[in-house]
This record gives sequence, structure tokens and C-alpha cells, in this order.
Amino acid sequence: MFDRRKFIKISSFTSLLGFTKVAAASDASAIIKPIVISTWDFGKEANTEAWKIIGAGGNVVDAVEAGVKIPEADPNNQSVGYGGLPDRDGRVTLDACIMDGSNLSCGSVACLENIVHPISVAKLVMQKTPHVMLVGDGALQFALANGFIKTNLLTPKSEHDWKEWLKKAEYKPAINIEKELSNKKIIGDKNNHDTIGMIAIDATGNVGGACSTSGLAYKMHGRVGDSPIIGAGLYADSEVGAATSSGMGEEVIRTCGSHTVVELMRQGYLPEEACKKAVERIIIRNPERAKTLQVGFLALNKKGEFGAYAIHKGFNYAVKSNNEEKIYDAKYFMD
Ligand code: ASP
Repeated sequence: MFDRRKFIKISSFTSLLGFTKVAAASDASAIIKPIVISTWDFGKEANTEAWKIIGAGGNVVDAVEAGVKIPEADPNNQSVGYGGLPDRDGRVTLDACIMDGSNLSCGSVACLENIVHPISVAKLVMQKTPHVMLVGDGALQFALANGFIKTNLLTPKSEHDWKEWLKKAEYKPAINIEKELSNKKIIGDKNNHDTIGMIAIDATGNVGGACSTSGLAYKMHGRVGDSPIIGAGLYADSEVGAATSSGMGEEVIRTCGSHTVVELMRQGYLPEEACKKAVERIIIRNPERAKTLQVGFLALNKKGEFGAYAIHKGFNYAVKSNNEEKIYDAKYFMD
């Protein structure tokens, strides 16, 4: 059971001590590049695709776009792109963004319908428009004008699941919590969540990232989460590193989560420490709310050190570099 007083005591104790290097998952002595890391175990296949580009000396932005397109096109992945679970009106609406840490260029789309690869539309927003973000119908018009074709994204499986949900239509956005919580009120639903957040460094040392999701299942129509919001679901600055998130987007937006993580790394925190402090901020501001929802951050610094932290058990991530190809479980505050 989460004890707020104990938590504050522990956190003030750790702040007094200052964070020491907490089991960094990578070797701090050498710069590791190229490297690509992604949220969740399905990030492994996405990393493999991204690696075809950065492993061959290609550009980080092209690599993260290619990587993220894998779960976007996978009909069995019900939280990203084609096959994503719809909103409560039965519409699949997609959020995505991409960022080039060399010059802070970025592009984003939100509430985009009928396009399989929102990440590629986000990349074009970055490259072809003077803007950062296009939403809804405007994003769709832009995509169509640039040669994307309309596709029905609602697969029979996701339509079936939505219709089952409609029978009760209970709006309980508990996400990523893999087990029943002790208060017995919230039961995590493995299909109710998940975003691909991918961050990487190419062989030249440039840092970038991409993020794509169908968002919270059965959300209100028009709801936009953290994933397409630069600084919330993703941030990349080649001077420092990059961060991305998965979980309850509202909490991540409130705390400008990924930007917070990057700024903590700028202050000298290791990636895992920075993620931990960002998660801690969410918990401290509302411990009761934090018990019922999940947020996980994933970060990579410019040396190629990486780490993650989550509110609850269950967040994991995939890493690929010349040294390793591995899935790590993130540390967490609450069981
Ligand atoms: N962060 C996503 C959102 O709030 C969902 C998730 O990652 O689980 O839309």
C-alpha cells in the first residue's frame, strides 16, 4: 500500500543525499552510439527497423520514423495506428510527433483519422510547414494533399472490443496497471494503453525521437494525450539527450514530463534518476490519483546511457545498440 508520509520521508532523504548513480543500465565510461530505445516490449521490432538506418550510418529522424511505422502498421497492436482501439464513438484517432534534437525542429499531428502512419505526417509537418502541430481535419487534409491515402483503421477485433465495452460503457481510464490494485476498484487492462515512444542517437551523435499512439481506449472524441505534445510525450535536444513517456497522458501533460526529464539530465542527473524524479513529481502532487494510474518515462542521454522509471510495476522498454539487444523492466514506486 502506498504511504504518502513514508514516500515523502524517503524522497527527502534521497534528495538530501543527492542521487548517486542508481544501477544505470549501461556503461557510463564510453559513448554508446548509435543506439535506439523504445517503450514496451513491442519496441524490439521497431528498434530492429530503426537500426537498419542508424546502424548503417543514417539519420536519426529517418530511423525513428521507420521504427515507429512498425507498430503503426500492425493490426494486432491495439494501442498504436492501424488496429488501435477507438474512442467511445468508435473512431480511431491518432496522435504522433517527431523531433530532431540537433536544431529542435519538430512536427506533430493530433486526433488524426484514417491515416495508417501519423508519424510520417508529423515528419512532413516538421519539414514542409512553418508550424509544429496540425490537428483533426486540418491534419487529414494536409496528409491527403501530400499523397497519403485514407484507410479504415478500425479492425474487426477492435470494433468487437469496443462493442463489448459499450455494453457497460464505463469510463475508467486505468492504464498499464498489470494487476488488481489493493483497493480492488481498479483493474488494469492490458489492451487499454500503450504508446510507442522511441528515442535514439545516430552515429554522428545527433539525438532524436518519435512517438505514436491511438491514445487512451474509449476516450472522449477529441481527447488528445501527451504523445503528440512536444515536451510532454517526447522531447529531444542533442546537447543533452531525449525522453519519452507512456501512460496516462493527462498526468504527463500537467508536468511537461519529457521536457522535465531532459532538463533534469541537463542538470546532471542520469537518465534513470531523471525519470524517477519526474515520476516522483506526479506522485507527490496527487498520491491518491497516482495509485490508480500508470506513467512511465524512458530517457537517453547524449553519452548513450539510458534508464526508465514508472509509478507502477509493469513498464518495460527495448534497447538496441552494438553492445546489446534487450528488454528491460523499469523500476517503479508502487507494486
Ligand atoms: N500516453 C498515451 C495517452 O495518454 C497512452 C499510453 O501511453 O498508454 O494517450
